Amino acid sequence: MNGNLYIVTAPSGGGKGTLIKQVLPQIENLSYSVSYTTRKKRVGEIHGNDYFFVEESEFRDLIKKDEFLEYAKVHSNFYGTSKTQVEKELISGNDILLEIDVQGAEEIKHKLPEAIGIFILPPSYEILSQRLVERGTETDDSLKIRLNNAKQEVKRFSEFDFIVVNDELDKAVNDLRSIFLAERLKRDRQTDQIQDILNSFENY
Ligand code: 5GP
Repeated sequence: MNGNLYIVTAPSGGGKGTLIKQVLPQIENLSYSVSYTTRKKRVGEIHGNDYFFVEESEFRDLIKKDEFLEYAKVHSNFYGTSKTQVEKELISGNDILLEIDVQGAEEIKHKLPEAIGIFILPPSYEILSQRLVERGTETDDSLKIRLNNAKQEVKRFSEFDFIVVNDELDKAVNDLRSIFLAERLKRDRQTDQIQDILNSFENY
């Protein structure tokens, strides 16, 4: 496979969605992996764009058909990454970004150790909690579950290659963008071009 696989993980409400939406159009040949979920659709979300929203029975069928590269139960719903989609993008040379939780990140790193892990940290617990409340998408119960899980999730930052602190949005967008750009400057990602340049030196 040619493309790079990026995992982006953050505690719920950390603003990673906004961050990713801003960065994606700025990076050429970077696709977004649209996950399957059994979670109910939020206002404004689009099937096939944000997620493929499915019933639990359909999700279980997909598990049986081995359609997931990874899947996990997160905050009481199922979420899974489409193996077909990821393979298609990587084979065609595109990079792909997976926005998944810590369990999924662990699974992917195990299967594909070359995957690049990025953890988005909120500036503090207070700010995370405030953002999640202000987003207005969660019930009281779901809010409690998500904030409780966040306490465990942030402890796992050390499993990731890069950390972006999502304090000021413009800076965080720039930081995240820099990771994709720097990865593409790595020697191994430029071998063809380098070879062409070196060949040109052979003529003299
Ligand atoms: P939300 O319900 O807020 O959209 O997402 C809840 C959590 O599920 C987030 O941490 C998100 O990154 C994670 N998530 C979304 N898609 C997937 C997936 O395909 N696999 C896993 N493991 N987690 C996912």
